[in-house]
Parts: sequence; structure tokens; C-alpha cells
Amino acid sequence: MDPSPVFKLLDNHVVIARVFRPFESNLGSNIVPHMQDFMLLGSQNLVDFRDQIICLNDEVMVTDDSNPRNLSTGRPIKDLLNASMFFIGNTFYSDFRDYTNIDYGDLIEKWAKDNPEKNLGPFEKKKMEYTTIADLEIRLGYPYVFVHLGSCEHLITFVDARLMVPDDLQNVDEYPLAVETDTNLLMYCGVCDVHDTSYYVDDEQLPSKPMNLCEQCLKTFYKKNDLLPPSTDDVFYKRLPPKKPFEVNVLEDMEDQE
Ligand SMILES: [Zn+2]
Ligand SMILES: [Zn+2]
Repeated sequence: MDPSPVFKLLDNHVVIARVFRPFESNLGSNIVPHMQDFMLLGSQNLVDFRDQIICLNDEVMVTDDSNPRNLSTGRPIKDLLNASMFFIGNTFYSDFRDYTNIDYGDLIEKWAKDNPEKNLGPFEKKKMEYTTIADLEIRLGYPYVFVHLGSCEHLITFVDARLMVPDDLQNVDEYPLAVETDTNLLMYCGVCDVHDTSYYVDDEQLPSKPMNLCEQCLKTFYKKNDLLPPSTDDVFYKRLPPKKPFEVNVLEDMEDQE
């Protein structure tokens, strides 16, 4: 979807935020969920959102013990490194609930100053714990970043925003709500695990059968001279039906209010 214009949410807006698996992290672990969706309220604080984000890299055990296998003395890394930051618009929102937390915004700002050819900045820096969702200026469908553990970076995006309706859970204490991820919208390729899938493939040669593949992987494996040979008894493929795009209805809601 094309990003919406920049706008500000209201306190009584419900916004759907999507958090993707980390891009890449030197902490290993690839078994994190592809993504998590949350329903947030405009009146909520960014730290409420942050605290709901689950990343298995947080659970990596670290120990001072000289025997690294002795996990009984270990602690999850998140207890030692609890700094985190959202980068939204041109602003770093850093978690300073623990005053000893590293300021990732400072580090990036310094890096930008040391690399003027990159043409980055100036940036603004704010505290996550003093910022509500309604304070943000966002664009729906636009990629923003969440960073924690020093190098674990997740893409986040706001996929929808609208006024609360009677069908929504009315108890505001229950938010942020983790919502079922609609697997209809995005299913990662069984081979590269990066792109959305567009083909159903049934082939003995693949690690599992059947498997959904992306356009690129299908092309790499099966296309000959840029043509896809017809399915055979051994190899069957079929294009998956197109997926519904995200619905963006915030602008209509905003107009209704005036
Ligand atoms: Zn992470
Ligand atoms: Zn692929």
C-alpha cells in the first residue's frame, strides 16, 4: 500500500501497529514470529507498546560463568540491556525508564555527524515514556524502526487507524491488544523466508511438500529461458489468488469528525 499523508492520531483512535521480525541481528536466533500486530489507543504511551513487543532474542541467556553451558547462573540478555528506541518521523524516542540506559539516538546522531556525506539529520530526541501514540506524527504504511539489544532492529508500520467503534473492546485497560496476525495478508516464502509468497508448489525436490514460494524463488528454481514450463505429475505449481490490500480508512474518519 502507498503510505498515507502525515497525520496525528486522536486519543480515542485505535491504531493497528505491525512489528516485523528483526532484519538481522548478530545475536542469532531465527525462530522469532514473522510479525505481531497490536491494537493501540491514541492515549497510550509508547512504552506500553514497547513492552508488548516479543522478540526471542531478548531471551538469549548470558552468564559470567567461565563455562558458557552453565545456564543456571545465566540471565536473559534483556535484563542486562533494556535500552530501546523507536525511530518515527525524524525523531528518536528512547526508553529512559532506567536512567542508565544507553541513548541510541545519541549514537546515531554522532554517527550521522561523523558521516556528513550520508546527509542525515538533524534529528529530534524525545523520551519514550513521555510520549503517547497521539503525540506522534505518522504515515500509515510507512516503515519505521524499533531497535533494542543494541543491534536487533525491527521494521514497524502502522497499518490502520480509526475511531473506536462499539465492536472494539471497550475496556481501555486491555490495550495494547495483541491481535491475530492475518496470515492471508502475508505468508513468507518457504525458501528465502523474505518475500511474500505468490505460488503454491508441490514438488518432491522441495524440503517440504507442498510449499508456498515467492516469485523470485519460483523463477530461480523453475523458469527456463524466462518461461515457466507447464506443471507435470512431478512438479505442480499454481499462482495463489491475489491478496486484499490493507484498508486505510483514517482519512474518512477524520473528515467525519469535522
Ligand atoms: Zn528483536
Ligand atoms: Zn523466496
